[in-house]
Amino acid sequence: MLKIYNSLSSKIEIFKPIHEHQVTMYVCGPTVYGDIHLGNARPVIFFDVVKRYLKYIGYEVQFVSNITDVDDKIIEKAKELKLREKQLTDLYTKNFIDMTLVLNSYLPDFMPKATAFIPQMVSYIKDLIKEDFAYVTPSGVYFRVTKDPDYGILSKQNMDELNQGVRVTLEDGKENPRDFSLWKVTDEGLAFDSPWGKGRPGWHTECAVMNHEIFGEEIDIHGGGTDLKFPHHENEIAQTVVHDHHHLARTWMHVGRLDVNNIKMSKSIGNISLVKDLILDFNPLAFRLLIVGYHYRQPINYSDDLMVQFSKEYDKIERALKKAFLTMSLEDIEEHIGIKEYIDQFKEYMNDDFNIPNVMTVVYEIIKMLNKEKDTEVIASLYHSAKEILTVLGIMPVFKFSENTLDLYREWEQARNNKDFIRADQLRSKLTEQGWM
Ligand SMILES: [Zn+2]
Repeated sequence: MLKIYNSLSSKIEIFKPIHEHQVTMYVCGPTVYGDIHLGNARPVIFFDVVKRYLKYIGYEVQFVSNITDVDDKIIEKAKELKLREKQLTDLYTKNFIDMTLVLNSYLPDFMPKATAFIPQMVSYIKDLIKEDFAYVTPSGVYFRVTKDPDYGILSKQNMDELNQGVRVTLEDGKENPRDFSLWKVTDEGLAFDSPWGKGRPGWHTECAVMNHEIFGEEIDIHGGGTDLKFPHHENEIAQTVVHDHHHLARTWMHVGRLDVNNIKMSKSIGNISLVKDLILDFNPLAFRLLIVGYHYRQPINYSDDLMVQFSKEYDKIERALKKAFLTMSLEDIEEHIGIKEYIDQFKEYMNDDFNIPNVMTVVYEIIKMLNKEKDTEVIASLYHSAKEILTVLGIMPVFKFSENTLDLYREWEQARNNKDFIRADQLRSKLTEQGWM
C-alpha cells in the first residue's frame, strides 16, 4: 500500500486515487527564459520516478506539466538578447525537452503552454469577478484573498502572519497586500486582449486554469519544488477553492531544494550549473543517482565533490551489471525473474513515501552479491532484480557489445584456464580499455 506525505495535511497518508486504477498528476513546469539548471532538474527527475513507480504498481497515469511561456522575465530576457519572445521561449522549451530526455525522464503526457489557454483564463477570471472573488483596478485584476476562508492552508500561515512584513502601501487600488494579480494590464511585450485591457495572465492563474481545463475536476497529485508552496501553490488552491470548491489536488507533493554551498541554486543569485554543461563531464545517469540518492523532501547540498562521489558510485553499479550481462551473454542464459525478497523490499521502501535512499541499500546489496557470485543462474536472477529496480528509478545502464568483445572475453577465460597469465593480462587490459572489466 503506497503512502505519501501530503503537504496539504502535513501527514503521511495512504494513497488512494479518485478513480480506481487511474492517477492524474500535474507538476508545475519551467518558465522558459534560460537553460535548465541542476535545481530545475530535481523535480524533473523525481516526478518521473513517481510516474514510473505508479505505472509499475499497475496504475494508468496521466501526467501533465506546463510550460510558462509568458512572463515578465521572458520579456526582459528577450529584450536583452534582441529576440522575439516566441523565439526565446521556443529556444528554451527545446532545451528543457532535450535535457529532460538526456536525464532519462519521460516527457509528460501533455505539456500545455500557458499562451494556448488565454481565452480560458479570461473566462475563468470573469467568473471570479462575477462572484466577487476578484476585482478590477486600473493595473489589472486581483484576487480577493479574504474571500477564501482556507487561505494559508498549504503554507500553514494565517492572514495576520501573512501580512507581517508586507509593505502596507497598497499600490494601484489593491485592497489587501496579499491580493494577487490574475491579470496584469500592460502593453509591454507579449500582450493579449481582455475586457480589462491589453495584458497578460498572472502565473498562479495559468496553472489553476490549465488544471481546470485539462482535468475538469480535482486531481490526485499536484507537485513542484518546495519553493513553489507559497505563494504559487497557495494561490492556485485559493482560486480553485472559490471557483471549483476543492483544493485542486488531493495530494500535494513538494521536492526539496538543491543548494550549492547551502545557498539555493537560482538564476538571480547567479550560482547556477546547467544540465547541458554537467553532461559534458558526467554521465547524466550518475547525476540522476545523486538526485534520487537523497530523500525527495530533504534539501541536497550540491558540490562538484558530491557529483564525483556519485559518479564513482554509479560506475560501481554499472561495472557489476556489465560483467553480469557479459557472463549471461557468454553462456546464453536468459534473464531470470527477480529475487522476491529484493523486489518486496524495494516495493516496501517505495511505498513508504518514496524512500529511495533505502531502496539504494537494496541495490548495493544486490551489487555486492553479484560481485561475489559465480553461478550464472543466480547471476541472472540478481541481474534481473537490479534491472527491475533501476528501471523504475530510471538509472538502468544500457549495454551493447560486439562479437569481438565476446571473443576477447572467451579467449581471456581460456588463457586463465590454461594458466597463460601473460596472455590473460593482455586480454584483460583490452577488455578494461573497452570498459568491460
Ligand atoms: Zn504551477
